[in-house]
Amino acid sequence: MLYNNLSTYFREKYGKRVKKICIDGGFSCPNRDGKCGTGGCIYCGERGAGEHIVKSGGIRAQVLDALENAKSDDVFVAYFQNFSNTYADVETLRARYDEALCDKRIKALAIGTRPDCLDEEKVRLIAEYATRVDVWVELGLQTSSDATAKIINRGYGRDVFDIAVALLKKHNVPAVVHMIIGLPGEGRREAIETAKYISSLGVWGIKIHSIYVMEGTALADMYREGLYTPPTLEEYASIAAECIGHIDANMIIHRITGDCPRDMLIAPEWNRDKNKIINELRTYMKQRCISQGSLV
Ligand code: SF4
Repeated sequence: MLYNNLSTYFREKYGKRVKKICIDGGFSCPNRDGKCGTGGCIYCGERGAGEHIVKSGGIRAQVLDALENAKSDDVFVAYFQNFSNTYADVETLRARYDEALCDKRIKALAIGTRPDCLDEEKVRLIAEYATRVDVWVELGLQTSSDATAKIINRGYGRDVFDIAVALLKKHNVPAVVHMIIGLPGEGRREAIETAKYISSLGVWGIKIHSIYVMEGTALADMYREGLYTPPTLEEYASIAAECIGHIDANMIIHRITGDCPRDMLIAPEWNRDKNKIINELRTYMKQRCISQGSLV
């Protein structure tokens, strides 16, 4: 196998394909509401990295909507995606997570958030859910470079991220760390540095996103002003392949592309064809005998 992907992990664990229910939990983000910033990360749109979700009512309504045509033995993961899903007090978090786990076919709870929205009390709460379902927390690091973090207006430093990862590890909550290939000011070397750094953390998983320029973002302004050019497909595939080669062979790779809503994509055009991206990546890996961890 070229790399450990999430669908294979799920198949081995549950004996079948697991479907994801992406949920807008009604949270905000400190990088948007003024607590640490207002503009948000430069690639983030109005829906807080959850543009695919057509919000229909509350959390329970969204879940029931997704389950409408499901079979009795289907398996689902409830994924709190939009904005920062630990950005509230513990009782609010508990109520919202409970609402999402309203059906026994939901076997896993995934929570996307920022490291500066985690503390011991919240992590302890999240760890409690591990007695009922599989649980993990997703952190959008995107880059290990604090210099790039400033360019993308991430709003926290790597020290804050390290503290959050240590807290999650202390309470045995699996973490999935996101990285983006093709950030402004970054090339192959910086992306590989980030992959190596994430691999060194001993976390459960990684999401590798290909960057895209989406309508309504600061990155779109930079692109139109000629201040930013995304990588070509060939560049992306070769960088992603080398990043995978530097990732610990035991980690689960949850994603190897980014997914922009078709009507909001400005560039690159190749982002529209996920199969082509994956094929390009796999071909590159095979031609050079790269597999996950082979370059560690
Ligand atoms: S942390 Fe997430 S929700 Fe907040 S601005 Fe950045 S990408 Fe958007």
